[in-house]
Amino acid sequence: MIVDRLNRPLGSLRVSVTDRCNLRCRYCMPEQEYVWLPKQSILTFEEISRVVRVFTALGVEKVRLTGGEPLLRHDLPTLTAMLARIPGISDLAMTTNGLLLAKHAESLRSAGLARVTVSLDTLRPERMRDLARTDRHADVLDGIAAARRAGFAQLKLNTVVMRGVNDDELVDLVDFGRAQGAEVRFIEYMDVGGATGWSAEQVVSHREMLDVLTRHYGTITPIRADNAPAERFRLPDGTTFGIIASTTAPFCRSCDRSRLTADGSWLLCLYAEQGIDLRAPLRNGASDADLAELIAATWQGRTDRGAEERLGLAERTPLFKVEGLRADPHREMHTRGG
Ligand code: SF4
Repeated sequence: MIVDRLNRPLGSLRVSVTDRCNLRCRYCMPEQEYVWLPKQSILTFEEISRVVRVFTALGVEKVRLTGGEPLLRHDLPTLTAMLARIPGISDLAMTTNGLLLAKHAESLRSAGLARVTVSLDTLRPERMRDLARTDRHADVLDGIAAARRAGFAQLKLNTVVMRGVNDDELVDLVDFGRAQGAEVRFIEYMDVGGATGWSAEQVVSHREMLDVLTRHYGTITPIRADNAPAERFRLPDGTTFGIIASTTAPFCRSCDRSRLTADGSWLLCLYAEQGIDLRAPLRNGASDADLAELIAATWQGRTDRGAEERLGLAERTPLFKVEGLRADPHREMHTRGG
């Protein structure tokens, strides 16, 4: 097992397959225009599977497909099948905004995708229009239903909670999750690249969320942590939900995850200033052993704890201004895969 300087193993890899997205969520892509990664820089399926194979040989067991919106990548089930064949992956998952999930759920399940997380920030179509600039709320609900029918285990729904935007829907979302056989995970609004309108006042802390839910449901019991980013809880009726307190109570000390962008930049932290270019060695004849050596040596030097450092700031403002994001699209959360 390879560990970094804080003794954190190289355990999970988020693989972004495209920087494109068909939503414009306020907390991630609020601008009117974006700078996109050049087409020729995007890794092919063969390149992605080769890199993932090297990572798994070094100990990565959990692989999650992300974007942008991963289902915008043409023929994703083919990549899924290629990854599902790699020995050593115990958990192959995907995070999607759900818009195209109804069409692809069956084929992804057949290809070997084990788990799906769908972003669902509101149950109100008119609110989604304002929050994500889309009229397609019904398509997301169809996608969730299709994922259930396709038989994905542990269906999860991710909700970014923003004060004054959707923080009055916590109970409704938990009830919806229960009815769908899905676990809702509330995520604190994060000051990551892309969130140019972020402010501390809009963050609803995990403490506040628990207070609201306790007032409604009664005693809430924490469930023993399994090293996942979400703290999980159980309601008196047995319903479970999670809270990801990345902003007010970060979990950097146990963070085993890194991110591969669609063009092969490897980021050791969501807040990392820069990534390590894996595309150049991949395309310039590096062997698997060369790649493994580069990845292992880099991970062994890792000290990143971005969210904890942000928490220590006296005054917290958005991580980047628009000009900084335009100068390097790798700083965008939709490029880094959330
Ligand atoms: S901020 Fe960086 S180190 Fe901390 S949990 Fe997120 S990715 Fe991991």
